Amino acid sequence: MTEHLYYHDSELRQFHSRVAAIASSDALKIALDHRAFYPASGGQPGDRGELRGAGGARAAVLDVEEDADGVIWHRLEGVPAGAFVVGAEVEGEIDWGRRFDHMQQHSGQHLLSAVLLRECGAPTVSFHLGQESATIDLDRPALDAATLRRVEEAANWIIAEDRPVRIRAVEREEAEALLASGALRKLPERGGPMRLIDIDNCDLNACGGTHVRSTGQIGGLLLRGVERVRGGLRLGFVCGLRAARAAASDFAVLQTLSAQLSAASAELPAAAARMQAEVKELRKQVRAAQDELADREAQSLAVQDAGGPFVVAQVLEGRGADFARRVASRLSAQAPRCLAILGVVEDGRGRLVMARGAEVDAHCGQRLRAALASVGGRGGGSPTMAEGECPPDQVRAVLSAAVQV
Ligand SMILES: [Zn+2]
Repeated sequence: MTEHLYYHDSELRQFHSRVAAIASSDALKIALDHRAFYPASGGQPGDRGELRGAGGARAAVLDVEEDADGVIWHRLEGVPAGAFVVGAEVEGEIDWGRRFDHMQQHSGQHLLSAVLLRECGAPTVSFHLGQESATIDLDRPALDAATLRRVEEAANWIIAEDRPVRIRAVEREEAEALLASGALRKLPERGGPMRLIDIDNCDLNACGGTHVRSTGQIGGLLLRGVERVRGGLRLGFVCGLRAARAAASDFAVLQTLSAQLSAASAELPAAAARMQAEVKELRKQVRAAQDELADREAQSLAVQDAGGPFVVAQVLEGRGADFARRVASRLSAQAPRCLAILGVVEDGRGRLVMARGAEVDAHCGQRLRAALASVGGRGGGSPTMAEGECPPDQVRAVLSAAVQV
């Protein structure tokens, strides 16, 4: 088998090869004798694309993985019967848009990790490249916003300078010497020759991934968020076309919010703060008004209090369960001999609240549960306070049942 072609030419998009093997357990997985498809590794996802065989046969490459023996398996979809047999010639084509996007993010990661180490002494411990965004985990508990802006700008300067990105292979001993001298940022455990990615006068790192030719191809870098993860920091970022798309999508959101709040983008935080303060004040006023209303409702229902035990069973038209709860608790506090059950219809559901004064000998939870059971409703509670739900047309039936039990 030949070497990994993507090691030397990350821009190789089309190639000819022969089928080297077909997985015996799975006819949809094949190995090729030319390795141009990148297998998922080192945080970078595997390539996708297409394989074309004799007679116009085509199959989509869904993902690519390298097994423990170093064989690269291409998982295929839509393979015509007998199209790919061992030894047959095939033409491969890599989904270039997807691959180039991965190259932009991966080279961007090397650059960002180098700048974070240089500017803040924060080493990168891992890298993940997802569909939407990429993240690195840093061995550092915190970085303030001003530092992150400085790092972002320094990385973008290096992108603008369009510095060459070179790839070279060295023996393990040389790589270890480079690591010891501080010239090499990171070195994996495994033995054998090491592949080094050299961003001119910026970063030297051992890596098997696919990279851009020069920093200009990274096309710009935006930091997208910071979260604390296991005592370290997880930093989200996007490069190149992803950065352009992310900025366009942010701008669309800002425009919508500007129209909704009648404020320019820069004024949105102040406008949102004003609105929050207004909502808080209005909530306070509504709560006070509802308390007053509940007091009045409780007083008007308590007129039935003639000194002896009495029952209040009432539907509160146009009110919600929260209001019924306030009235019931006020009533039971004001009238120790009152057994109250109040019903409302809220959001298309019947809601019931039952409460009793201190001198009433009844178990509200048990009574209400029994009354609700007769109409297929559910509920319960303590001896002094209970709540439940039933179909909206059964509220009155539950009130009658609860006071008769
Ligand atoms: Zn890498």
